[in-house]
Amino acid sequence: MKRYLQQSLEHIFKNNKQWALSKKGADPAFFEKLAAGQSPNYLYIGCSDSRVPANEIMGLEAGEVFVHRNIANLVPNVDLNVMSVINYAVRHLQVKHIIVCGHYNCGGVKAALTPADLGLLNPWLRNIRDVYRLHEKELDGITDESSRYNRLIELNVMESCRNIIKTAAVQQSYQDHQYPIVHGWVFDLGDGLLKDLNIDFEGMLEDVKKIYCLSSSPNRE
Ligand SMILES: [Zn+2]
Repeated sequence: MKRYLQQSLEHIFKNNKQWALSKKGADPAFFEKLAAGQSPNYLYIGCSDSRVPANEIMGLEAGEVFVHRNIANLVPNVDLNVMSVINYAVRHLQVKHIIVCGHYNCGGVKAALTPADLGLLNPWLRNIRDVYRLHEKELDGITDESSRYNRLIELNVMESCRNIIKTAAVQQSYQDHQYPIVHGWVFDLGDGLLKDLNIDFEGMLEDVKKIYCLSSSPNRE
């Protein structure tokens, strides 16, 4: 029996109609404003995990946050997808804050710690193994397995922040306008709360610029 072929998604369309009605009820011009354009203050880069809905956990409405999600909230230097999102958000939308939000119990990070061939996922998860290698001493010093796993989740967020700061778009915009500011957060599935890792953005920028400085490039594409 083709059970899923026959499964109706009618409830989603019903939910959608209800949502549209309630938005219009609260603000009759809601969709006119939405259709007119976006000028979000925030770019959110998070994990694709279904338990971490970006807008919902931040209490932000449609139009308030530009969102990119992938497995384990990575920002690989050669990933055209995330790099395009950062470029567009910084150079065109002129977001004031970029948030990398990881989460405890991240399956992607757990998979990266598993000594197994995961096929197509191998090169993606290797980015997390690289984070482990960069912080091997600290991580190996944590004897409790779940604490080590949680710390890798935090360090992975910080490395994504660092990769964002390596981009010309962020370095040049910060030099010219003093934004965007990059933030590293972790969402706790256990209590629904966001934890700010309080990364030292300016310190990280200075540190990164020793090797990756692109702010004086004449070709500001
Ligand atoms: Zn995850």
